[in-house]
Amino acid sequence: MLINGQWLAGERRFSVANPATGEPLGEVADGAAAETTAAIDAAAAAFPAWAASSAFERAAVLERAYTLMVERKGELARLLTQEQGKPLRAAAVETQYAADFLSWFAEQAKRVYGDILPSPRADQRFLVRRQPVGVVGAITPWNYPISMLTRKLGPALAAGCTVVLKPAEATPLIAIEVFKLLQEAGVPDGVINLVTARDPRPVGEVLVSDPRVRKLTFTGSTAVGKQLAAAAGANMKRISLELGGHAPFIVFPDADPVHAAKGAAAVKFLNMGQACISPNRLYVHRAQVEPFVAELVKRVERLAVGNGLEQGIAVGPLINEAAVAKVDAQVRDAVNKGAQCLAGGRRLDEGDFAAGTFYAPTVLAGITRDMTIYREETFGPVAAVVPYDDGDDVIAMANDTTYGLAAYVYTNDLKTALRSFEALDFGIIGINDINPTAAAAPFGGIKESGIGREGGREGIEEYLDVKLGGIAL
Ligand code: ADP
Repeated sequence: MLINGQWLAGERRFSVANPATGEPLGEVADGAAAETTAAIDAAAAAFPAWAASSAFERAAVLERAYTLMVERKGELARLLTQEQGKPLRAAAVETQYAADFLSWFAEQAKRVYGDILPSPRADQRFLVRRQPVGVVGAITPWNYPISMLTRKLGPALAAGCTVVLKPAEATPLIAIEVFKLLQEAGVPDGVINLVTARDPRPVGEVLVSDPRVRKLTFTGSTAVGKQLAAAAGANMKRISLELGGHAPFIVFPDADPVHAAKGAAAVKFLNMGQACISPNRLYVHRAQVEPFVAELVKRVERLAVGNGLEQGIAVGPLINEAAVAKVDAQVRDAVNKGAQCLAGGRRLDEGDFAAGTFYAPTVLAGITRDMTIYREETFGPVAAVVPYDDGDDVIAMANDTTYGLAAYVYTNDLKTALRSFEALDFGIIGINDINPTAAAAPFGGIKESGIGREGGREGIEEYLDVKLGGIAL
């Protein structure tokens, strides 16, 4: 744990395992309520000086952190693969994405402008200024365990906030490396504090109830997000939430089904399908199902599964046993209700796979609305193809979910592209594009996928309060 600039080993500790091998990777401090309160003490004490530092000073710290992260990309990526499982190349891509948030918000720090407004009274002036909200509580997930840190720390630090962050219990080691790097870049003691914990609940309870924490930022499941938002609401804290998703991927009849299948194969198995923007329902017109599925299956069968540190691996292990069980239950449910399993469809546990938590990349066709996978987020390497017919309103089908994070559309028709972009009830729409994300772009959902945006011009606003001054002349 890092509290007030001091690294603490903690009285209790817990170990972290490599999901590809089951081997222990390290031990970290097991923090709870008392450590969280101590971290808030430090963040509250550090806040006035950090908030009063100039935007240029804060930007310089973030720029140094960006440089260090890019310099250390290789070693950070290696640890990321060992702790989280994603293939090394994907880990390097994520580390660069993480660094990009530091650089982007270093720039944005210098663009927190105020306003002078006209007043209806000739003898009055209005001044508007944006100022940091104060101490921020941050809770991050294991699926993108480095970029989700900087997506919160970057804007918080740029705005002049101080932070207490709790990383996911599966991936604290990469968080420790990021905090060391930020310290080295010159973030003062107490400005960032890290509380690692095996049980997230006591930490979360303090973060949502201590009155000194002015804002909670959370990325994780919708169920936990709702609990935290309710508690934060009871204490009138600002919140931003990045929650689950159930992305539709619509292939319109005018699109090339083979090209769309290539996109689906590439995006669906990224991070072993453990992404909140991963396509969960692939809507393909019945007349195009055959060429689409043929290409998809061909590509899925070529995906090499294994330890992400090895050359050429495309799909690593899932994060833990519970993840494997959930994915398998969805696949069983679909097959029992009539889906066709055209690739994979089972846990991999022979030979080198035995000690890890691997699931074969899977293609299911003939998905219908009564199947669990049609509604429940999968978070695993399963491509679920839903046929639709002439006359079906595929946009309405796509919108028929409680989630609203990402959606994907394949079409060559400008009108269809724009109509879909406008009519889909999701925060992020990829149009013939499987990677509609970047540090410069606002990321976030609507409906039960969350509140607020991260990255982009919007990202820093989540960490700023607007203050009005009225001046009588
Ligand atoms: P996932 O299904 O992706 O594991 P979770 O919502 O369980 O999603 O986890 C996301 C983050 O939320 C992790 O850091 C986890 O430790 C934390 N978390 C889970 N449950 C709670 C809780 N009750 N209070 C506070 N944080 C929690």
